[in-house]
Amino acid sequence: MSSMIPMSSPDLTDADRQTVLNVLNTPNLSMGRYTPEFEKAFRDLTGAKHAIAVNSGTAGLHLCVRAAGIGPGDVVITTPFSFVASTNVLLFENAVPVFVDVDSRTGTIDPAQVAEAAENIQKHLPRRSPLQTNLDLKALLPVDVFGQPADMDEINAIAKKHGVSVIEDSCEALAATYKGRPAGTLGDFGVFAFYPNKQITTGEGGVIVTDDDQAADLMRALRNQGRSPGDTWLQHTHLGYNYRIDEMSAALGVSQMTRLDELLWKRAQVAAWYEARLAEIPGVELPFVEAYTTRMSWFVYVIRFDAKIDRDRMAGRLAKRGIPVRPYFLPIHLQPYMVERFGYKQGDFPVTEDLGRRGLAIPFSGVMREEQVDHVCEALRVELTHA
Ligand SMILES: *Cc1c(COP(=O)(O)O)cnc(C)c1O
Repeated sequence: MSSMIPMSSPDLTDADRQTVLNVLNTPNLSMGRYTPEFEKAFRDLTGAKHAIAVNSGTAGLHLCVRAAGIGPGDVVITTPFSFVASTNVLLFENAVPVFVDVDSRTGTIDPAQVAEAAENIQKHLPRRSPLQTNLDLKALLPVDVFGQPADMDEINAIAKKHGVSVIEDSCEALAATYKGRPAGTLGDFGVFAFYPNKQITTGEGGVIVTDDDQAADLMRALRNQGRSPGDTWLQHTHLGYNYRIDEMSAALGVSQMTRLDELLWKRAQVAAWYEARLAEIPGVELPFVEAYTTRMSWFVYVIRFDAKIDRDRMAGRLAKRGIPVRPYFLPIHLQPYMVERFGYKQGDFPVTEDLGRRGLAIPFSGVMREEQVDHVCEALRVELTHA
């Protein structure tokens, strides 16, 4: 009887734990030395001029939306095949997300459809909207899906043509590279996230990277209750938030970043074990890595079943064998609050919906052992032979 394989697990060492404990032996549990150290690790990794640590990836994306000047009624073109946060941050500011469909192989936003939508916004507005829109395209918000960058050269060209900014949601793609350039630095703003299933973890946390000095100043103020550099503790130049990361989290992040290459390599090894075994199993489509992706940063391992296989029935059978699995992603436009607000229907974004119907994330982490991968693949093989 094999013990339960977890869906994901953080990869922590005693050194990681000790770094956090050291913080707890000081009075500096917030705004201490680890936050700037953590930020420096991101400047070093990406070459970005500024790195701003925050307490979640969502908070980071929200600050980018504020810094890009996106407000009520403004239009942002984005993808429905993502974790909901990439769209929610637009709704926080009463901006209007305009969805376009994704590339069927990578699941990243399709640049040809972005270009078309940017020319004809009216035609791509949601069926109905509680928000009055000014039809003013303000930004593009692509997502680096499952550890693979979106086709950012194409997206940047469209942004340039329309004079709008690009917010790259790199929350799933820490240290991935696109044509040799680091994910997160490919647009005007990039955001990483560190929930425990991500490539590194801080418990909760995120980092924004940008080369824009003014935006960086604003985002630093906004994460700290709107305090500008000259403000005292009770002076607030802006309407801000408490999006600060605490020192225990930042310290864990500093420690994890020293092991980044090892963490990524272990994940790539697990992905390679899966690939070798699953390639032999009919009915299973493997993750597709584009030629432009010069380094894949494996975040989750999502397989796709042939259309004739009932994914949910298969998920149930695997769960019965003690293998946790998760449909990935459930399209954003079909989430109940999105349907209610904007009137989206099945069929609006067929590629996203098809990927959402056929995709299944299987257990994945850098601490998975080869025999656990064997166990998952064997269960898949047996269940698919009986399907
Ligand atoms: C993880 C993730 C985020 C941020 O998530 P938080 O839980 O707020 O850190 C944002 N976008 C995508 C695509 C993600 O996968």
